[in-house]
Amino acid sequence: MPRPPKCRRVEFMPEVTVFKPAGVRLAEMEEEILLLEELEALRLKDVEGLEQEECADRMQVSRPTFQRVLSSAREKVARALVEGKAIRIEGGSYRLAARKLRCEDCSYEFEAPVAMYRQGAGAACPRCGARHGRRNDGDQTAGGMMHHGRSRRGWKNTEGEE
Ligand SMILES: [Zn+2]
Repeated sequence: MPRPPKCRRVEFMPEVTVFKPAGVRLAEMEEEILLLEELEALRLKDVEGLEQEECADRMQVSRPTFQRVLSSAREKVARALVEGKAIRIEGGSYRLAARKLRCEDCSYEFEAPVAMYRQGAGAACPRCGARHGRRNDGDQTAGGMMHHGRSRRGWKNTEGEE
């Protein structure tokens, strides 16, 4: 029996997904592809400053797995900086953590990524477009996960907001 792909839990989707050195055309440069779970590892460890064990818990992977993902992420970013490559963030084996929100305008209930909510930007209501969804179910990561991974850009296919 084939083992199912391991999906790492990811809370954050970047709005900017391509970084490139100034003054060089993208078509002419090499890229490092940073997976979504690698970005999440960098974010948790190096931006939020969490302990490695906590990072692993958040992503629901073992510590060795987290360490591997983090090392790979750091190596790619370092190589891009040193060798003047672009960085493109896409793909991976992840599922997006979601939280249930309720629109204060039209009461529509929907799910949005945890990190978008936490950043205070709120999430746009898919029905009326208001940007202040409010969670309606305590502080849990609601309803499990908003799937998924595997596909490149899975997020964009499945999320109402664009
Ligand atoms: Zn609404």
